Amino acid sequence: MIQIGRLLAFSLQPIVGGPTHCERHYNPGMSQKILIVEDEIELVKVIRDYLEKAGFRVDSVDNGSAAVSVIQHNPPDLVLLDLNLPGMDGLDVAREIRRINDVPIIMVTARVEETDRLIGLELGADDYITKPFSPREVVARVRAVLRRTQKPVTTPEIIESGDILIDLLRHRVNAADQSVELTPTEFDLLVVMASQPGRAFSRMQLLESTQGETFEGCERTVDAHIKNLRAKIEADPKKPVYIETVFGVGYRFRDE
Ligand code: CA
Repeated sequence: MIQIGRLLAFSLQPIVGGPTHCERHYNPGMSQKILIVEDEIELVKVIRDYLEKAGFRVDSVDNGSAAVSVIQHNPPDLVLLDLNLPGMDGLDVAREIRRINDVPIIMVTARVEETDRLIGLELGADDYITKPFSPREVVARVRAVLRRTQKPVTTPEIIESGDILIDLLRHRVNAADQSVELTPTEFDLLVVMASQPGRAFSRMQLLESTQGETFEGCERTVDAHIKNLRAKIEADPKKPVYIETVFGVGYRFRDE
């Protein structure tokens, strides 16, 4: 998704009636974002420092429910999850995360025996790190897990689904054998979603993948673009068949 977004031309259509004061946050090179879930502030500082030096963007929260909220609304590329958290413990957080999406999780535990127990629980974590660890080791594990879990993104020339045909080379879209005129942003949104049918994208992800930068507080502009896009490609925009709303998350292109 990220690579596709990078290939697409920068485009931002002004939205009539949309938010007027959006803060720009340039997001250099669309670097990958790591979410640290850890209540030991000093440890967070050290890991954050190393990860940022390694080129990652870093978010951190000190409890499980905040982690779940971030993963729902602004999903990272990987979660570094401490097992021993105040309130909701790491195991429950991992379960919650898995109910939302399949973001890679590295569990951080205090003891080797704990690691064995966790592996037995088959929580769907992608790796385990035992404390104490060196920050360098964390960076290496993060890189390894990202390499292993990321599906190569191949950009096809044509995407077809039902009576929608997207010609990526010619920047053309047909719906029910009729050519439709999309704005560059609508085209980008459609391609990003249709390239991974069935995958739910948050509004923030859609913004980032089409623009290469984020506009804080402007996630609702995505809704306006989606509305216009549905009006152009759906037979009945009130009952969309192709672009589905994912309640509490965002949107997805239908998976046939
Ligand atoms: Ca802890």
